[in-house]
Order: sequence, then structure tokens, then C-alpha cells
Amino acid sequence: HCKRHQQNCSFYQPGMEEESARLLSLEKDLLQALEQDQFIFYFQPQWNLRDGRIEAYEALVRWIHPDKGLLMPGQFLPLVEQVGLSQELDLLLLEKAVATLADWKRQGITVPLAVNMSPVNFQLDGLKKRLQQLLLRYQVSPAMLELEITENTAMNDMEKGSNYVAELQQMGIRVSIDDFGTGYSSLGYLRKMPIDKIKIDRSFVTEMATNDSDMMIIKTMVTLAHGLGKRILAEGVENQAQLEVLRALSCDAIQGYLLAKPLPEQDALALLATDNLL
Ligand code: C2E
Ligand code: CA
Ligand code: CA
Ligand code: CA
Repeated sequence: HCKRHQQNCSFYQPGMEEESARLLSLEKDLLQALEQDQFIFYFQPQWNLRDGRIEAYEALVRWIHPDKGLLMPGQFLPLVEQVGLSQELDLLLLEKAVATLADWKRQGITVPLAVNMSPVNFQLDGLKKRLQQLLLRYQVSPAMLELEITENTAMNDMEKGSNYVAELQQMGIRVSIDDFGTGYSSLGYLRKMPIDKIKIDRSFVTEMATNDSDMMIIKTMVTLAHGLGKRILAEGVENQAQLEVLRALSCDAIQGYLLAKPLPEQDALALLATDNLL
């Protein structure tokens, strides 16, 4: 039909039908995955730079696909959002996180767990109530849970966003700003937003040891965070040079492949026994 209506079909690209067929089948898989609990967390430690110990874990979702094996978030989160299932997934993962904390508590492990919230779901009407129910049902302290949100998430309406964060904080749940420096940030909102921790985006860390302006930016972020009484963590630390610079700049914590990749639960917990990796 494209030949006859050439103008109307100008968007047609070879392979497009295959692409939409692929998306359709992935969507079907996705619904099944939600039903059959095919999502799991990997856990990446966050290391305190002062004592060299693990101060928290970040939960990072993986999809154990029945045919395709282990899928990374970049391979399915965009689709999840596209088909409108991101709220379902976030709520499912939130419960998984709280259940994990309950399990750790039984094992005598009291390390906080940070969970990522999709921008579209933060400030969800029912989220706070849902969190309250989950913490109660699983008998988990809110102090064990941390929500990672991106700047954009909180920024849309600063007034509303900061009230929302304040309410979570009153519940005892901590909130951190993820990917800091990459969003539409205004410094003013940092002052208003009662967050606990700032996570410097990996893009600044990658070249900091060789790029003077990235180094200056990080130095300024650390000063800013501490001046506002907030903790600051650097993401994506991959080598010792970066670690040394961050330590010299008084960054509070780091996370990255240098110390540990995101790991299956038992491997991640085994790292708690190592005294000081730094
Ligand atoms: P993010 O929250 O910024 O997570 C950090 C990402 O960087 C993770 O990728 C992690 O594996 C990776 N990473 C950690 N250290 C290093 C390093 O030293 N070098 C490099 N090159 N990468 C490092 P991952 O697990 O593929 O997750 C990607 C993104 O997907 C996350 O970015 C987050 O935005 C989203 N995501 C992951 N899990 C969840 C989840 O449970 N819920 C929601 N809503 N989003 C999630
Ligand atoms: Ca994160
Ligand atoms: Ca990040
Ligand atoms: Ca990110």
C-alpha cells in the first residue's frame, strides 16, 4: 500500500514492521513478567569514605526473561513506560524492596536500601499511604528505606515537590537526588528541598581526574552539599585515582565498579564481611 500513497507513507522505514512486532511481543512478555514475578534486584554497595564500610545498598532491577535471560533496565524500562506499566512495576519493586529489608532484618543485617523511583510515579497520590502500609505489614523501620529521585522528578513544581519530600521525611523515609547535575537544576530548589543526600552523576566523575573543570564542579558540589547540611555521594567511581580525588575533596561516600558492580543478593551481602576495601 505504501507505493500507492507514497506521501502518506514517508515515515515508513524498512524493518519497521519487524520492530513493532518485536515491541508487541515484548509487551506481552512484560505483562506475564509482572504476573510471574520475573523481576529481581541486583544490589550495589555504597561505601562510606571515612570508615571504608558499606553504608547502604542501591537496588537495581533486572528482568529474568524466560528466553532472553538477564535483561538490563535500559532494555526494558523505556518500554515499561511506553505501555503505561511503570506504576505497576514501581509499586511491585517497592514491595520487593521492603520485603528484602524484612528478610535482612531477620538475618540481623541492618543496612539501608535505596530504591529508584520513576519520575512519573514520584508524588503519586497513593504512594505515601502505600509505603506506610508496606512498612507496617513487613515490620520494617522507615529509616531503612531511601528513595532515589531525579532532579526533574522533583522540579516540575518545586513547592509541591518539596512539601512531598518533607512529608516522606516526616515518615522517617530518606530521599536522595540521583544523577545530580544533569537535570534542569536550579540551586534554589536545593535549599528548599529537604533531601538528605545528593548523588553526583557519573558523567562528572568519569573525567574528573584528567579534566580540571569536572574536578572544579565536583569540588563545588561537595562544598554546596555540606554547606546545606546534606551528604554527598559520587556515582560511577571506576578507578583508584578518582577515589583519591574524591577523598581529598571530602566527598562522603562513593559507589562504582572499582569497589563493586551491582551483584546478586548473596554476593552483595557477602561484602559486608570485608572490613575496609578502601
Ligand atoms: P541509576 O539509578 O543512575 O543507576 C546507576 C547505574 O549505573 C546502574 O545501571 C549501575 O549498574 C551503573 N553503574 C554503577 N556503577 C558504575 C560504574 O562504576 N561505571 C558504570 N559505567 N556504570 C555504573 P543499571 O543497573 O543498568 O540501571 C540503569 C538505570 O535504570 C538506573 O540509573 C535507574 O535510573 C534505572 N533503574 C534501575 N533499577 C530501577 C528500579 O528498580 N526502578 C526504577 N524506577 N528505575 C530503575
Ligand atoms: Ca539511582
Ligand atoms: Ca544515578
Ligand atoms: Ca541514571
